[in-house]
Amino acid sequence: MEEKYRKVLTKIQEADAIVIGASNGLSISEGIHIFADDSSFQENFGDFRKKYGFRSIIQGCIYPYPSQEEKWAFFSRMFEYFLYNKETSPVMKNLYELVKDKNYFVVTSNIDAHFTLAGFPKERLFEIEGNCRNLQCSHGCHNRIYPGDEILSKMAQNQENGKVPPNLIPKCPECGDPMQVHVEVDRNFLRDQSWQTSYQAYQDFIDKAHGKKLVLLELGVGARNQMIKAPFMKLTSLEEYATYITFNKGGELYIPDVIAAKSIGIDGDIAEVLQQLVQMK
Ligand SMILES: [Zn+2]
Repeated sequence: MEEKYRKVLTKIQEADAIVIGASNGLSISEGIHIFADDSSFQENFGDFRKKYGFRSIIQGCIYPYPSQEEKWAFFSRMFEYFLYNKETSPVMKNLYELVKDKNYFVVTSNIDAHFTLAGFPKERLFEIEGNCRNLQCSHGCHNRIYPGDEILSKMAQNQENGKVPPNLIPKCPECGDPMQVHVEVDRNFLRDQSWQTSYQAYQDFIDKAHGKKLVLLELGVGARNQMIKAPFMKLTSLEEYATYITFNKGGELYIPDVIAAKSIGIDGDIAEVLQQLVQMK
């Protein structure tokens, strides 16, 4: 095992470019499981669970709330749960420590905004499905995303009986209708200028890495993931000097034969793997 870790560190150290791809499994290693009815969900969202019967954060994101006051009670709670007064987790600290001096780019489907929290700069980050702290018009009347930290904190702290006060509900500055959180929960999700810029930055980063020592570092991405995993595998097979490194928990690790010779897979708790790597660095 130690040899494998050493190999991972060497690949990272020698890389000209590192693309980090992260999905649900990374959040789970931090203790956040948006698909689970676990103790953390019950502790932080128990009132919603009881009132509406949903059993996970993701179900809460798509629940048809009877009113805006109730909808925002959930989304502001989710914001608070992910971010408010939150310290960066050891997992994210270690990940940052591992790559901070390297030429890297991050692509993630996680909506918890933990990469920015950990100090990863916006210019090196593409959040495919948005994040919990930005807002957009709920029917996408215009193509712009707004920062929502202030109003979301306010709503999180001023909810009563599962409702926020009506005067706090954020309204679209163009059409006056309610806003919604900029997370891909429905077809109205906006790919505005900032989303396009991030997407382009991701493409440019990959283009520039062509023919160089490229490391594709995949963290907690499911075997059938088409958004992150499929392009990573394709790049690994196309790029001569690419290395595909994947960390995932028991049973989730998947490396196709065709790229096996250019791949390193570590089966284990991502939190422990990152800790180990940083200690050995
Ligand atoms: Zn609008």
